[in-house]
This record gives sequence, structure tokens and C-alpha cells, in this order.
Amino acid sequence: MNCETALQLIDAFMDSELDPSTSLEVSTHISACPACKQALESRQALSKAIKLAAAFAPAPAALRGQIRHKIQPRPHFRYGIAAFGMAAVVAACFGFATWKKNSDLRRDQDQVISDVMAHYQASESSAHIVDIRSKECGSLKNWFNSKVNWSPKVYRLFSQPFTMVGGRVDLVGNQAAPVIVYRSGNSNVDVFVTPSVDVKPRNVDAQGLHVRSWSDSGHDYYAVSNGSPAEINAVQSALKVCR
Ligand SMILES: [Zn+2]
Repeated sequence: MNCETALQLIDAFMDSELDPSTSLEVSTHISACPACKQALESRQALSKAIKLAAAFAPAPAALRGQIRHKIQPRPHFRYGIAAFGMAAVVAACFGFATWKKNSDLRRDQDQVISDVMAHYQASESSAHIVDIRSKECGSLKNWFNSKVNWSPKVYRLFSQPFTMVGGRVDLVGNQAAPVIVYRSGNSNVDVFVTPSVDVKPRNVDAQGLHVRSWSDSGHDYYAVSNGSPAEINAVQSALKVCR
């Protein structure tokens, strides 16, 4: 792996979003490359600052020092250097804003994932799996449209071994989200649909549950199951549009 590739992957590496072998490659490169190590450390410092202050975080000391150094008035070149310094400040702020937006998206996605896991567990333990039983896509869609104030497409699973059980509505991130419930073997698979914030595909396997999230055609999907990982992986490719 070279520096260019390592730097492209460094954000995903930091957020543990890489598959194990790529993550190992990045980690091996970073431990042998002072420049990339420095890049990782400054991102970690920035990320830490963002976590400490949700609305505002100071730039890391090293970055502040660099900017201060660049805008230090000097004879002859004072205005040019001041302008360069301002440009550096603007660039730093812009980069910071982009970083913060991505970081907010990740935090929101984390929140949604923990919401859908909690809803899944609650519905399983209360045996309140659905509000409406239906194997018919059109009636489920009409029912959802009467319950939520935005109009999702309802997806059904055509392929075996999934059978549509019905639907319910849960509150996800302060918003009513349609949940389509499928049965596969001995386990239920809940598919939560929310308006899209362009989530990155993410797999979470924790607390005996498997969550797969992805974005498609203006919606974000979160599939949750306590079945096997292979089963939940099959969900995404088995989904077909019902219009
Ligand atoms: Zn490098």
C-alpha cells in the first residue's frame, strides 16, 4: 500500500469501517510511515475535539500554531501573507465543517442503528411483531401511507425463504418509520425504512443481532435479524420494489 491509498482510506480506517484485511494493510503502512502516522494523529485529535464539543470545537493546537505562524505580519509581504493566512483559515474552517457534517451523519446513523436494534428486541420480547398482518404488498403500502406523513415505497421479498408477515410503525430518530416484517426459518427480519440521509452501507453484528443498512432510491434501509449472518446478508439482494 502507498501513501496515496492509505490517506484515502484513513477516515474509514479510523471509524473501523474497513474490512479486516484492508484495515490490516492500512495499519501496517501507518506503523511504518511517519507521514501517514502524523495524518492519522491529527485526524484523531480533531475527532476528539469534535466529540468534546458538539456545537463548537477548537482546532488542534498544531493547526492553530500553523495558521498563527502563517498570518504573522512580516515586512514587505504583510498583505500577501495575511491574505494567504485568511485563505488558510477559510480552508481549515471549510474542511472542519465537512468533517463535522460527516461526523454528524455517522453519529445519526449510530443512533438509528441503536434505535432499530431496541425496537427489534422490544417487538420480539413482547410478541407484538406487527400492527397489521398482510402478505399483500398493496394493502401494506396503503396502511403505511395512512400512518406516516411521507410516502415510502414498500419493498417485498419474492425469494424464498422469506415470507412477508406484515408491518408496524416505530419511532426512529424522532420520525415515524414503516417497518416491514418478514419471516425466515425460525427468525423474523425487520426492515425499517426512513427518508434518505445517504447512509454509508454499514454492517453491525452485536448483542446477538445483525443489522445491515444501505441507501437506495431516496430511502435508507435498516434490516435487523437475530438469525444467521448469511440470512441477513441475503435480505438485501432479495428485496424487490413494490410500487
Ligand atoms: Zn504513507
